[in-house]
Amino acid sequence: MAQASNDAALTQLSGIRDRIERASARIEGARPAQLIAVSKTFDAQAIEPVIEAGQRHFGENRVQEAMGKWPSLKAQHPDIVLHLIGPLQTNKAKEAVALFDVIHSLDRDKLAGALKKEMDRQDRHLPCFVQVNIGLEEQKTGIAPAETAAFVSRCQTEHGLNVIGLMCIPPVDEAAGPYFAQLAQLAGNIGLEQLSMGMSADFETAILMGATHIRVGSALFGSR
Ligand SMILES: *Cc1c(COP(=O)(O)O)cnc(C)c1O
Repeated sequence: MAQASNDAALTQLSGIRDRIERASARIEGARPAQLIAVSKTFDAQAIEPVIEAGQRHFGENRVQEAMGKWPSLKAQHPDIVLHLIGPLQTNKAKEAVALFDVIHSLDRDKLAGALKKEMDRQDRHLPCFVQVNIGLEEQKTGIAPAETAAFVSRCQTEHGLNVIGLMCIPPVDEAAGPYFAQLAQLAGNIGLEQLSMGMSADFETAILMGATHIRVGSALFGSR
């Protein structure tokens, strides 16, 4: 059983790695995008074969859920890099800073302040992506595109956070390409180099638009 699931994980992972490499090769001078394996809803047993297959960057969208599986997995594999890709409440900042290594969902001043306070207290200065509500969707979190430059600047200067790039989740049921291009342009205007964009359905498009980090769940772990 364990062997079968190991083999399946390895096959999925190597297929995705091939697709990342092929897409990245189409952009001159680009390094292959970093694959973040999104393991939300999957337990440690499902994650372990993917770690065994050499994957080190993982993403989770809920702090509480991540706290149930990652402390022991990280203790066993200290080189794992854990990315928080879901919305973060300020009252979970302490737990998030303790467990995660990169934050992708920085989107408001109150959160920036709470994160900075915890990072100082724990002496863990995590790199952050600012999440942009690229489709200006009412139900989605993220800062509006027009407010992004000012917000990034406040995060860096007033809050003293290490903002490394922008992150987005484009509207579903629409072509993602133009939204990815818009995020890339926004990041370029601000002088940020990292772009967290692209999921199972559209990560190759995201890479062609300049993604440096892609967040892939179901294509790797199966449907949720
Ligand atoms: C779940 C999730 C993903 C992965 O989605 P898939 O379509 O399963 O690849 C990526 N980013 C965020 C923010 C998510 O919540």
